[in-house]
Amino acid sequence: MAKTSRKTFLTKSFYLVTSLSLIERGLGFSSEVMAENKPSGSIPEGLTPVSESDPTAKALGFHQDAKKTDFTLYPERKEPQAKNQFCKHCAQYTKLNEGWGKCNIVSAGVVSSQGWCSAWSQKT
Ligand code: SF4
Repeated sequence: MAKTSRKTFLTKSFYLVTSLSLIERGLGFSSEVMAENKPSGSIPEGLTPVSESDPTAKALGFHQDAKKTDFTLYPERKEPQAKNQFCKHCAQYTKLNEGWGKCNIVSAGVVSSQGWCSAWSQKT
């Protein structure tokens, strides 16, 4: 009887450790993906992010986080071919650090590398 209990205990322990390991790997992957889509640099000293209520920003549907784009106004941004449309890949963007840069059009501050507006055009 004691032998059966020990076997059951070891089997359950094996499954528990295996499950926890798989869950941990899954969570690690999720946080890596999330980290990839967040601006990683801090706002350059002395500069401020462009306000999304800035008239130019508003007129162009700009958001510091492209995921917040109004897709009813800009459905093309949701198309698969637009998935890499972020400020960091735009011809108007000049990188200041990993997370922030200057835009030639939306210029009342710095824009996030993960931002987007309807004036986006592919950097060559
Ligand atoms: S023009 Fe380009 S860099 Fe400027 S806000 Fe729009 S998408 Fe970003």
